[in-house]
Amino acid sequence: MKEVILIKLGEIVLKGLNRRTFEDILIKNIKQRIKPLGKFEISIAQSTVCVEPLSDDIDIDEVSDRIGHVFGIAAYSRALAVEKDMDTIISSAVEYLEETMSTASTVKVESKRSDKKFPLTSPQISAEVGGALLMRYSHLTVDVHNPETVVTVEIRDKYAYIRSGVIKGAGGIPTGTSGKAAILISGGIDSPVAAYMMAKRGLVLEGIHFASPPYTSERAEQKVAELMEIVSKYAGRMVMITVPFTKIQEKLHKDCPEELFTIIMRRLMMKISQRIAEKDECSALITGESLGQVASQTLQAMVCTDEAADMPVFRPLIGMDKADIIEISRKIGTFETSIQPYEDCCTVFTPKHPRTRPVLKYVLEAERAAGFDELIEEALNNLKVTKIGF
Ligand code: ATP
Ligand code: MG
Repeated sequence: MKEVILIKLGEIVLKGLNRRTFEDILIKNIKQRIKPLGKFEISIAQSTVCVEPLSDDIDIDEVSDRIGHVFGIAAYSRALAVEKDMDTIISSAVEYLEETMSTASTVKVESKRSDKKFPLTSPQISAEVGGALLMRYSHLTVDVHNPETVVTVEIRDKYAYIRSGVIKGAGGIPTGTSGKAAILISGGIDSPVAAYMMAKRGLVLEGIHFASPPYTSERAEQKVAELMEIVSKYAGRMVMITVPFTKIQEKLHKDCPEELFTIIMRRLMMKISQRIAEKDECSALITGESLGQVASQTLQAMVCTDEAADMPVFRPLIGMDKADIIEISRKIGTFETSIQPYEDCCTVFTPKHPRTRPVLKYVLEAERAAGFDELIEEALNNLKVTKIGF
């Protein structure tokens, strides 16, 4: 008996002429994720990708779990691949489905025959397999309208596939089909969720993290790397760039009006991030901002922040409530790490009364008067690169 994974493609099927490119990228992503688990044959036919393990020692539970994290997959299922012979199909189905059939009370068997040379028609296959299941599991009854369990038998090129039930996929479109963008990532709850959401829309990510040692600790930076590792289960491999931000923050503290400190700091983050993004061929910046959440996320504050960057700034959480963001963060597994109490550079020298309605003109004047150009260059010359998801 050999278990395989059958994958139904998601939104990809809508993509017309680009479909081939989308499929190729999806298959490349699947390969990359499961490669460490062993050797596989991956094939695609009629909108279904089949992942076949090539040795017996492969952990199919782990393969299934990893495939569940790949964007571009609407649904997938584990299936038994057997020889295309009716006796084999029947005996294998009875044995393979034992656990499901023992707990189910109603069942329906659906068959698909894409190999038209197979001697039985689909209704005939269903009738024979269904009959055998009812005979072996005598508590079962057939319900064609509202069955508790659907058993599917598919006769394809190489094998017949037997399965029951489907698993919901990660959805979205394959990471890498939309280009590349840089996520400004902190150790908080929001930015890892923003990263996940944009990778789901096909973007390859690069992380940019601002650290201000000794005000922020080594452990705080480590926490951000851990968050990115969790996100990389969905988003694939990426790099995290750590920007040394201490001198800039000290200068801000010394030379800028206290109530404008946060907004100028955020502008400087944008400026530096844009420089890194341009060098690394990213076409947009992403943040975890949500309108009105804190002083630096009012509309007026964002007008001031946006002016610092020429490239598009994506804020996928802009219209979301914190509770909804937390729900996603729990779902993707970043929440528990995010709530570990480590300091972020944003909380270093926080003003008591930050301006919630900063006026761009005055912000620009204060920023120019202090003069950050040299320190920006120095920070850009001292970036640290960490590989994530390798
Ligand atoms: P988060 O939960 O993502 O930290 P937040 O609600 O705490 O967000 P802020 O601290 O104001 O909000 O940060 C807003 C956004 O700025 C973050 O979502 C993130 O994109 C970016 N950001 C904040 N701190 C850093 C940092 N140290 N390095 C890189 N980006 C940061
Ligand atoms: Mg934060």
